Amino acid sequence: MLHATDARPGHGTFSRASTLAAPGILAGPTRSKPGAPAGGRASDAPNQNSNLLTLFLCGDVMTGRGVDQVLPHPSDPRLHESFMDSALGYVELAERAHGPIARPVDFAYIWGDALAELERVRPDVRIINLETSVTRSEDWVRKGINYRMRPEHVPCLTAAKIDCCVLANNHVLDWGTSGLVETLETLRKANLKTAGAGRDRAEAEAPAIIELFRERRVALFSFGSVTSGIPPDWAAAEGKPGVNLLEAGRVRKIAASVKRLKRSGDVVVASIHWGPNWGYEIPREQTELAHGLIYEAGVDVVHGHSSHHPKGIEVYREKPILYGCGDFLDDNEGIAGYEQFRNDLVLMYFVTIDPAAGRVVRLEMTPLRIERFQLDRASEVDARWLRDRLARECAKLGTRLEEGADDRFTLGWG
Ligand SMILES: [Zn+2]
Repeated sequence: MLHATDARPGHGTFSRASTLAAPGILAGPTRSKPGAPAGGRASDAPNQNSNLLTLFLCGDVMTGRGVDQVLPHPSDPRLHESFMDSALGYVELAERAHGPIARPVDFAYIWGDALAELERVRPDVRIINLETSVTRSEDWVRKGINYRMRPEHVPCLTAAKIDCCVLANNHVLDWGTSGLVETLETLRKANLKTAGAGRDRAEAEAPAIIELFRERRVALFSFGSVTSGIPPDWAAAEGKPGVNLLEAGRVRKIAASVKRLKRSGDVVVASIHWGPNWGYEIPREQTELAHGLIYEAGVDVVHGHSSHHPKGIEVYREKPILYGCGDFLDDNEGIAGYEQFRNDLVLMYFVTIDPAAGRVVRLEMTPLRIERFQLDRASEVDARWLRDRLARECAKLGTRLEEGADDRFTLGWG
């Protein structure tokens, strides 16, 4: 996620009224085993006893810096930013905007109402863009912003039963190669799969394979573009740790990788960190790449991120392209400068695929709001604001938003 402008602490802060609530100490979702009988109402578990497959996708999950400070084992708060010298400064900004945070919070706290949504939908696979290094490394890279979460805090990811973290982004190497290697090892020990970064090129390029019921598989490729702020020298190479950098003309190579791997019934996701933090424009290169990945490479879902707010969604050849999923968890509360984008409003994306037919059958979104580093269901007014804004952008791409129950919305196309 972000570049220097993102972390600019402003003098004017949001002044939204907030109701203080006890930290969300929710029990972790009791996710049923694939193929097990549904525990709730039939409509609550759409894929049980069906051949459909639902993915939970979201944008940037930044659990470092200010968020790391409110968890039980905070890192040394010293920062190397020109506008803030302590990560505690971001906690203060959030508290000034929305009220005190009961520190330390438990590991499930940050997910708030998202846990109940995950339990309602019971997606088969949960994928996030982890926008931070997970390390004790002190080898900070001079780039203006360095995100770091203590390895002891990795239970904040497993609390939401995340399956896979994509790592090809502009923060995974913020604390040097040692920070990246520790990130990979920490996530592996926690049984979290990763894609998009590695100890060498082969590991960085390799997809994460998630095995599901009835020999179903999801293959997740993760790429990062320099347009998101990834320094070009972060590219993994032979014997060199780094990220899977998206290079021009890569579609053919990706197509060859996908063809080698894809079996009938597999779902292939291309997760891409691309483009700037702010603005709704979708560059032609992104559309061409996304179409190429679907048409030439056989990708089933394009999961785009880097924008701090949700962007338009296209359905091309019955496959969804999420151009920008927005932030999902961050420590940007109370930072002035981009209020018109409302990046406190975030979305959970539930994408249901018919793997046999190779097409999307449903795309549902749940709006939430970040407050005190925790996700709350968005108010009716906020949900409507986000739906109207996103509908405006989707209309440019030939899709529409339809109202669902409880302020959720679904994508319409065709
Ligand atoms: Zn980023």
